[in-house]
Amino acid sequence: MEFEAVIGLEIHVELNCKTKLFCDCPNNPGDKPNINACPVCLWFPGASPRLSQEALEKAAILCLALGANLQPKSAFDQKVYYYPDLPKGYQLSQAHFPLSRGGGIDITDEDGTTKRLRIHHIHMEEDVAKLGYEMEGRVPVSLVDLNRAGQSKAMGFLIGQVMQASGGKANPKIIRELLAKILKKI
Ligand SMILES: [Zn+2]
Repeated sequence: MEFEAVIGLEIHVELNCKTKLFCDCPNNPGDKPNINACPVCLWFPGASPRLSQEALEKAAILCLALGANLQPKSAFDQKVYYYPDLPKGYQLSQAHFPLSRGGGIDITDEDGTTKRLRIHHIHMEEDVAKLGYEMEGRVPVSLVDLNRAGQSKAMGFLIGQVMQASGGKANPKIIRELLAKILKKI
């Protein structure tokens, strides 16, 4: 019996936006911890999230640059899980109606032949908080920085057999460089 390794890639792209995905908090995760957080980030009762037009436009341009088909209908869902980096208990993500489907990334092999890595879909998602770990004397402590919570992300899913199709050239560094080039122009 012969086996074939099937390897896909899930790629996260942070969108360079001025604000977070659903509120007006600055999109500056490197600032002093927990100063860029509001009731929407923390999903307090009564909070009114509003989708960032800038994030939507940048994500849509990224999809088009990758040859993807923007969907006539896309929507956000609640991905429920409990973890300290997600105090509100769920993450807003496009689980069922992604922003785009299809598209691809072209990789050129050493012999000069170009192969296309197909993209299954691209969806938008808010990021979660950042966790840090330190010692207070002899006691290990976990620290939560909510500056990153709610940041805009676009996620692409490359279809299986990525590595075989690319002859091993589809390493994350090459794909990262390609996406960085596209994002610089948006
Ligand atoms: Zn906020």
